[in-house]
Amino acid sequence: MPRRKLTELTDNDVEELLNFKKELQELKRIRETGTKAEKVTWVKRQSQDREHCCHWPGCRKQVPPAMWGCYPHWMKLPKYLRDKIWSAYRPGQEKDMSPSKEYIKVTREVRNWIKTNYPNTEKKEK
Ligand SMILES: [Zn+2]
Repeated sequence: MPRRKLTELTDNDVEELLNFKKELQELKRIRETGTKAEKVTWVKRQSQDREHCCHWPGCRKQVPPAMWGCYPHWMKLPKYLRDKIWSAYRPGQEKDMSPSKEYIKVTREVRNWIKTNYPNTEKKEK
């Protein structure tokens, strides 16, 4: 939104601000007390608003920054790892670039799991 004096705000600007406020409040609530289902809903609503590749080694597919990776690769991960990602994921971390230490630890664990279980993955997918 371009910088304007408060008195010059249009109805549109006000609506945009109110929506933004609503979204922030919802985000805050989900971060504090949200269930996994609410996190899932949040992630599914996020769009591809910047470049962000799937985290599977060698995969070039663009996925919304809120997502760990593309669907086929996500589904290759065992459920216990997917659950760990969900529980460490803080909705909005993709916006303020503040993943928790726990999240970073889990993504490292996932990378190691892929290396062990799909050792040739990078070569194959390039
Ligand atoms: Zn992928």
